[in-house]
Amino acid sequence: MHDAAGIERLLKDRLTRIDDDQAATASERSPVMLDQSRIGRLSRMDALQVQAMAEAQERRRRAERQRIEAALERLADGTWGLCTECGEEIAGARLDFDPTVALCIRCAREAG
Ligand SMILES: [Zn+2]
Repeated sequence: MHDAAGIERLLKDRLTRIDDDQAATASERSPVMLDQSRIGRLSRMDALQVQAMAEAQERRRRAERQRIEAALERLADGTWGLCTECGEEIAGARLDFDPTVALCIRCAREAG
């Protein structure tokens, strides 16, 4: 049996961690403005690569934030644990693995 308060706490902890990560990496994602006279071509390419990786991570964090927020909404309206597609209960093991899952295994397979 899943306890809603426990799930909510877990999801909110994950949101807090995402906030922290976002704050910690904000400078890496800022536009690359390097002093060309001091920094060579290679360092500039390194900086661009770091920025590209930071942006990819940021996109993943945003996607996760959306999943978590959607799961919190389902918790609030009492539909957490039910498939958003067919309304069937999602298997407990699936929810244990990831409390933000929105689809039962069958609908997830159909969605590809
Ligand atoms: Zn389903």
